[in-house]
Amino acid sequence: MDEIAADPSHPRYASLLMRYRLEAAAERGMLAGSAMIAHGRGEAFDYLLGERTTASATVACRQALAVLQAAKRPVLSVNGNVAALACDDMLRLADLFKCPLEVNIFYRTPERMEAILSYINERKKVLGLDVSVLGDAPNATIPGLKGPRAACHREGILESDAILVPLEDGDRCQALVAMGKDVVVIDLNPLSRSAKQATITIVDELSRALNTMLDLAATEGRLTIDEAYDHHAILEEGLTEILSGLNNA
Ligand code: ATP
Repeated sequence: MDEIAADPSHPRYASLLMRYRLEAAAERGMLAGSAMIAHGRGEAFDYLLGERTTASATVACRQALAVLQAAKRPVLSVNGNVAALACDDMLRLADLFKCPLEVNIFYRTPERMEAILSYINERKKVLGLDVSVLGDAPNATIPGLKGPRAACHREGILESDAILVPLEDGDRCQALVAMGKDVVVIDLNPLSRSAKQATITIVDELSRALNTMLDLAATEGRLTIDEAYDHHAILEEGLTEILSGLNNA
């Protein structure tokens, strides 16, 4: 996908760029009909956050990175919006963890799966990364889920011990947690079911969160897991930062 022609000095450039990426992905058949609505909900929360990475989001990023680095079988889950908005950074992160990236979408159709997989494989070639991209031949199911959205790869999501699932739906997040995995969610809405149910939730915009993790890994290498990490306290801090932003406006 070509990048947007808008001037990078435009105050809303980052937001315009993400909208453009979604538009281009929609044209390629990568997105579900509700993708723009999900993005709009995220944008609203980002506006309230001041479109910045907060202190509590950085703490969550550190813990997420440490847990994924320490995992024996990490996996990164990608849906249509994630592929559209941050495909390259997800590939870079998979390369860093030497783990597979698995396409796993809520509204699964062969056409959408093919559109997303071919885009990711295109970008993988451009970046020259040797990352295993799964999703084309699911051979297992996530216990507790019904229908096509339960489908997954045994060697990917099913047998993983830690999983990054940005912009995940609450049911699937709950099913993954019930399997005993460490589940890292990136979601701008600290009140969403996924945000509450995950093991670690990064309340930040997807591409900012991924960049924070990539930068931390580049500057600090292997991070230490904080055994006293308090998921609920970090979520509360995210919510407080949104509310204090309103008071300061
Ligand atoms: P849940 O089932 O967890 O309650 P939901 O139904 O509110 O979730 P979905 O439509 O499944 O939400 O997914 C959209 C979620 O992703 C929203 O919570 C939204 O805030 C978040 N979101 C959308 N775009 C981004 C983004 N670019 N970065 C981070 N979060 C985002």
